[in-house]
Amino acid sequence: MAKRKRMKKGIKTIFVLIILICLITGGLLIYNNYFKSDTEPVSSEIEKLMQEANISKDKYSKTLEFVLLNNIYDESYLDEYSDIEFQDRDDFATILTTFLPLGYSSKEINYITKLSENNIDKLSKIDYVDISNYYEFSNFDVNKIDRYNSYYEDNDYSYKDVITYVNINLDLPVYTDTTEVADPNDLLVLVNKYHYLPDGYKPSDLAYLPGAYGNNVPMREVIVEPFKELQAAAKEEIGVNFMPTTAFRDYNFQRTLYNNYVASDGVTAADTYSARPGYSEHQTGLSIDLKNTAISGSTRLTDENYEWLSNNAYRFGFIIRFPEDKTNITGYQFENWHIRYVGLDAAKIIYEEDLTLEEYIDLYVTEY
Ligand SMILES: [Zn+2]
Repeated sequence: MAKRKRMKKGIKTIFVLIILICLITGGLLIYNNYFKSDTEPVSSEIEKLMQEANISKDKYSKTLEFVLLNNIYDESYLDEYSDIEFQDRDDFATILTTFLPLGYSSKEINYITKLSENNIDKLSKIDYVDISNYYEFSNFDVNKIDRYNSYYEDNDYSYKDVITYVNINLDLPVYTDTTEVADPNDLLVLVNKYHYLPDGYKPSDLAYLPGAYGNNVPMREVIVEPFKELQAAAKEEIGVNFMPTTAFRDYNFQRTLYNNYVASDGVTAADTYSARPGYSEHQTGLSIDLKNTAISGSTRLTDENYEWLSNNAYRFGFIIRFPEDKTNITGYQFENWHIRYVGLDAAKIIYEEDLTLEEYIDLYVTEY
């Protein structure tokens, strides 16, 4: 027994020693990598260059070494160099020679190196601006910085939200600064009060849903199958027949619809629930308005029906396009019956992250 105990003790000691050795070696490696090599000249060549430029040894940094070796050293930025994190990238010299003279501090240059190439390029073409509140967000667009700043001043939103909201144009009046959508056939096409469809657009692949609950309503062929699956799931899981009341609507139909609403309610009210012609998502053939066939009258879905729809539509590539708590973003009042096809991947993210299509496109599709 005693022998075994001693042996155990011996193994334990060896084990502890190995761990200690590992810790010491690791520590030394980290020290060398992060501290030593960055605070002392590594070669006599650099030492010589530093002497020639009258730079004291304690000013050494990897960035200083870089500017000396690349012949872009400027003594007025000597103190900045030591605080700029060296980056092994092709445009590092350009970043230094562009942004130091524009008045950016070393701290700000460290921010700038985290921006997209596109943003760096845009920033290089304008006078100094303070980007500290925005640089960390991937959807930050340098060209919109003035709009971000004034939207932040005028509202009670975080910088993160300000960026998204300005990117989707919420700081601009609706139906004024509008853009024609580039590809109306794209499954992720965004049609709203800032984006309209090309003149006379009509999808070339309109199809009809077969069966008793198809209702002879045309929609893009690509959404027929997913919608049939959604219908079948609703029937099986909650015993409800969701029938499409309208899906694709052409320009002229939308014009009549909208004008009738304006005639009875006025423009301001009509704009909250009906799209102007050319600005309706229904014209894409990717949206469907639903009705529970068991309900008569003007109510389309019960709260329970909507509960199921809002939690399950994404399984078939659909989203609730105008949710209750997002009216400030979509520009439309809550519609529990209007679903929009965006494909499985986008629908899942939009559902899980509680986004609107506008936010999804800004955060996941647009490159800044
Ligand atoms: Zn609708």
